[in-house]
Amino acid sequence: MLRQAMLALSKSRRAERLVTTSPLTADVVARYVAGRGAGDAAATVQELTRKGLLVTVARLGEEVTDEEGAEAAVGAYLSLLDRLPAGADVSVKLTALGLRLSQRLALGHADRICAAAAARGLTVTLDAEEHDTVAGLHAVHTALRREHPDVGVVVQAYLPDSLDRCEKLSGARVRLCKGAYTAPGAYARRADIDRSFVRCLRVLMAGTCYPMVATHDPRLLRIAATLAVLDGRDQTGYELQMLYGVRPAEQARQAQLGARMRVYVPYGDDWYPYLVRRLAERPGNLAFFLRSLVSR
Ligand code: FAD
Repeated sequence: MLRQAMLALSKSRRAERLVTTSPLTADVVARYVAGRGAGDAAATVQELTRKGLLVTVARLGEEVTDEEGAEAAVGAYLSLLDRLPAGADVSVKLTALGLRLSQRLALGHADRICAAAAARGLTVTLDAEEHDTVAGLHAVHTALRREHPDVGVVVQAYLPDSLDRCEKLSGARVRLCKGAYTAPGAYARRADIDRSFVRCLRVLMAGTCYPMVATHDPRLLRIAATLAVLDGRDQTGYELQMLYGVRPAEQARQAQLGARMRVYVPYGDDWYPYLVRRLAERPGNLAFFLRSLVSR
């Protein structure tokens, strides 16, 4: 119930105005968001890289409503790429590249970003968003892979067809996550989502894909490590991914143990929906947020 209410809040323009104009939220934002500009993101990347962590950097921003907005997003990604070290990844939301305007437009923009990334020794991963964009996401991913075979895609385990997706993806970089939105027919109970996550993980670990296991869940992390051993993958055969600001000590610990541990580093002005989705995931985060509002 609380999660549903929070996710509805993440789309409310009124709530967004209230929260984003309040100076009181700065500390909470700083915990989860690397800053407003590409320079801030680059500084965070440098700090994380020094600790042996890998990164995927995401420019916050969703749902552009015109071609100019999509073009601006491409420009921002192209200048971001110049600031990142080789081996870094960028995470891209196709709705920010115009997916809701036209699939062709988003494909063309994503193609430009993938080409520029490849020229710099970087990779691109396509984030998964609201359920009505998932078919478009996979169509664009399939088309992009003809020219850019290492472009990654996200599968959300809360969708009942996620297993089918994993079975169809061959040789791809696949980030598996639980899913941060809501969708009709999606698994809603935690146990069902976790079971689906494990079913997908089994297929990815046993198959030809490069699994990117995106979770903070200790149980799922243990299962991933066990499956990797059973399937004969060493620590270079898959990676773990966590969000900037969530379980940073565990991120450092995993890297020290030799895991390929990648941190998702979001930056930009449009942080509101991202932050509210993080708060929806964990009541503890919400308490932290509310405490920060009243303790000033
Ligand atoms: P949860 O069910 O949130 O948490 C499970 C357990 O993890 C908790 O019980 C606790 O033990 C531990 N835990 C979680 N948070 C904390 C914390 N702050 N401190 C201590 N312990 C904690 N979603 C999408 O829909 N599309 C995407 O493209 C996408 N990309 C993602 C990329 C990355 C790198 C990651 C990590 C997540 C991404 N997500 C994406 C979000 C994802 O779908 C989940 O909403 C989010 O990761 C929370 O799920 P969880 O697996 O961490 O487990």
